[in-house]
Amino acid sequence: MALPLPSSLSPSKISSFTDCPLAFRFEAIERMPSKPTVPTVKGTLVHSALERLMTLDAASRDRSAAKECLAAASAELPADPEWIELALPADEHAQFFADAERLVDAYFNVEDPTNVEPTGLELHLEYTDPASGMLLRGIIDRLETESDGGLVVTDYKTGKSPNPKYAQARMVGVHVYSYLVEKNYGHRPKRVQLLYLGDQKVVADLPTDQSTRGIERKVGAIWDAITTACERENFQARVSPLCKWCDYREFCPEQGGSIELGVKTAAKLRASRAD
Ligand code: SF4
Repeated sequence: MALPLPSSLSPSKISSFTDCPLAFRFEAIERMPSKPTVPTVKGTLVHSALERLMTLDAASRDRSAAKECLAAASAELPADPEWIELALPADEHAQFFADAERLVDAYFNVEDPTNVEPTGLELHLEYTDPASGMLLRGIIDRLETESDGGLVVTDYKTGKSPNPKYAQARMVGVHVYSYLVEKNYGHRPKRVQLLYLGDQKVVADLPTDQSTRGIERKVGAIWDAITTACERENFQARVSPLCKWCDYREFCPEQGGSIELGVKTAAKLRASRAD
């Protein structure tokens, strides 16, 4: 019996399937939740602080306002399911919040927020490919309009920028966002950019006819590969240094685990969530 197709594709799912098809199966087909980590929860907190900052009048977006935005976002953490599940020991809280504050402050070394004119924040966009029926989704950290009317897609990253030889591969997500903007607004963004707060660098690219066609082909090819893997119930494990951080190690045959046990565990988790 074929496995069900995932309901949609997104930049994070594209990257998950490219990194390891088996981990993608556990995440997107079996819908086994991944465990929150300190970097992911901290990243969400920093994103929330910067989103709040962008809702303020441009002239008032300074370091002290950003600190207040971080404090407001932090005040909501106790009710956040990921923060609760993370269960960070009390003696690590000070370091966690100090790191978040350092990252929010670092943002001001990357760009001047008083010059940013946001068109959308945490912008949800979708596009259904008429030929395959594939639903492509994305949540853009920030879409802005520059003074010449050009659109810019911006994604914040709380880690450090990659080695230049991997930089292009890390741009796939923002190019997918650019593609979604073009499909939804009828205009191709003039620029896509990643703001790396960890080492305060900007990596930018200019979408072109060629890059847009390349993204369309890549997304289509990945969807075809997922469709075939579902039909054959065959999602291959791809061992790499990323295995160290994989949430599904105990169910991975390459690590001595059992896929069947993972599938049963995921079904139980889904049933408990539905209760
Ligand atoms: S442990 Fe490695 S090979 Fe196994 S599922 Fe995870 S990422 Fe894939």
